[in-house]
Amino acid sequence: MDILKRQRDFFDSQQTKNLAFRKKALKDLQKEIELREDAICDALYADFKKPKFETLAAETQFVLAELKLAIKNLALWARPERKSGTLLNWPSSDWIYKEPYGSVLIIAPWNYPFQLVFAPLIGAIAAGNTAVVKPSEATPNTSRIVQEIITTVFMPEHVSVVEGGVEVSQRLLSQKWDYIFFTGSTRVGKIVYESAAKHLTPVTLELGGKNPCIVDDTAAINLAAKRIVWGKFLNAGQTCIAPDYILVHSRVKDKLIEALKRSIEHSFGKSVETSPDYTRLVDEKHYNGLKAMLQGEAILYGGETNDSDNFLAPTLVNEPKVDSKLMEGEIFGPILPIIAYDNHEVIHNYITRYGKPLATYVFSTNKKFQNKIITEYGFGGGAINDTVIQITNKKLPFGGVGASGIGAYHGKSSFELFSHQKAIIKKANWLDAPLRYPPYNLPLKLIKKVKHLF
Ligand code: NAD
Repeated sequence: MDILKRQRDFFDSQQTKNLAFRKKALKDLQKEIELREDAICDALYADFKKPKFETLAAETQFVLAELKLAIKNLALWARPERKSGTLLNWPSSDWIYKEPYGSVLIIAPWNYPFQLVFAPLIGAIAAGNTAVVKPSEATPNTSRIVQEIITTVFMPEHVSVVEGGVEVSQRLLSQKWDYIFFTGSTRVGKIVYESAAKHLTPVTLELGGKNPCIVDDTAAINLAAKRIVWGKFLNAGQTCIAPDYILVHSRVKDKLIEALKRSIEHSFGKSVETSPDYTRLVDEKHYNGLKAMLQGEAILYGGETNDSDNFLAPTLVNEPKVDSKLMEGEIFGPILPIIAYDNHEVIHNYITRYGKPLATYVFSTNKKFQNKIITEYGFGGGAINDTVIQITNKKLPFGGVGASGIGAYHGKSSFELFSHQKAIIKKANWLDAPLRYPPYNLPLKLIKKVKHLF
């Protein structure tokens, strides 16, 4: 592929290693996004009626905050880090150099189609890489504006966009990259990992999962309902860290259901379809898949649909069977199953039934219970007494584990993720301690006893 060759040559020219060059690129990107913020909101609205507030908060302003942080801290993050030396090597100075990998491929999904292109791209550029970006074909208006922004800001040998669907993605994946950053489903994540393995290319896989939301009988129920409804129905449930299903203590189940209904109505009114704050499903295929999941289920609330614009109302489902379509895998839409538990075994069985999820949420005022869930189960990240907010603190790394992915980014973690840590020891010549050379005269006892030898 011509563009990859051009990017390799450009990377080899050493220009991306220059900090002033990187900083200028980030600043230019910031300016262009600020300039086009309204047009970006329009593109996301045209793609799936994403409300402007959500686009500003979760896409443009989120990305601009990442940019500002990277611009401010670039020099600090990029400078070689001094580490203390060891006795064996004394006298020496020991360092970690942050080395860009080279040519990076970034493949993005459609659910946050702007943020999930630019948040990783910022890390890649800040760390001194070149990048090719493939936005999702499912959000064509956003894909177009991403293309326009990148073409305006960057030379193609530095950053390029390749638009298209699965075939384009596969063609890109057949090339040898120095790093691949993929956000999308676990199914496609496996394909990406396999392609990368052929070239021993390191990867970050930001995948999905079936995120449990546990509500115990000590929870502040009304507040819990409000925070669950917000996190679940934001972007019409098409959020990788949205709660997927609720496990609620049977003592508070009815109270929670009533509070959830009130919260949905308070957020979107009696007729959700006319609410300006509710997103549509991204396309017909996804819409039909979600409708099919509702077949034969006990709907407690919602369930209304409109084929003309892929509308599915916030929907609560009572006690779906473990082997139902709804409980097979990630729902990724505005359907919230509610399952009662009476003992910890039920919670344990649900949580361990699926691979490690991207997020887990606990609503409880019992610290012991909160801690038990945090420490006993593997998951990407989560929150106690809230949902989704773990993504909003740039000091916290964001990523999955096991089935929900490999690697984490945001803030400084993005810079670190796109940098190889190159260990360098600079040795002095004025002394050459004979310790390590044969013939080995050092008493063996000393190897075990001397502190800081290694
Ligand atoms: P997807 O895996 O279908 O597609 C993601 C990207 O991969 C797209 O650009 C697509 O063109 C490409 N692709 C699709 N099939 C491919 C194939 N066979 N070979 C090569 N490339 C292929 O995912 P999606 O439907 O766009 O997004 C939804 C999924 O993404 C959900 O599972 C969600 O949980 C996950 N997600 C994860 C995060 C995260 O940060 N961990 C964020 C958003 C979404």
